[in-house]
Amino acid sequence: MSDCIFCKIVSGDIPSYKIYDDDRVFAFLDIKPLSKGHTLVLPKEHFENVFDIPEDLYAYMFEVAKNISANIKEKYQPEGIFINQNNGEMAGQSVLHIHIHVKPIYNESQKHKEEDKGMQLSTEEMEKICNDLKIA
Ligand code: AMP
Ligand code: ZN
Repeated sequence: MSDCIFCKIVSGDIPSYKIYDDDRVFAFLDIKPLSKGHTLVLPKEHFENVFDIPEDLYAYMFEVAKNISANIKEKYQPEGIFINQNNGEMAGQSVLHIHIHVKPIYNESQKHKEEDKGMQLSTEEMEKICNDLKIA
């Protein structure tokens, strides 16, 4: 896609700190890292989000993210690694070319505390949601 910044990085029109490159997937350091080694993993072909990317390519991106995580763990020994992939602006996606964040966590200030934002739902509400969303 011609006006996509990540397509321009993949094609080399915009420079990046490249970490990994194969025929389908590309990975580079985030320009504004949460922590040392914060890496973005993306398909070379432009897809916007989880809804339009083919399933096998989505799975392959995570395979690459796993290998990158193992390499970061070996080289930098973080306390943990937070992996997230945002879909839609409300979910925190600012660049509309799908990408996985691999964020090494080294200390308390970088800790990811999703549990602090948790809702308290009633049994009835939980059962309704479970019924609504059950696939198998
Ligand atoms: P998201 O908010 O999930 O869409 O993440 C987009 C990420 O891309 C942000 O963390 C940005 O810091 C990062 N980013 C934007 N432009 C560049 C760039 N030119 N090189 C590397 N990372 C970038
Ligand atoms: Zn793109």
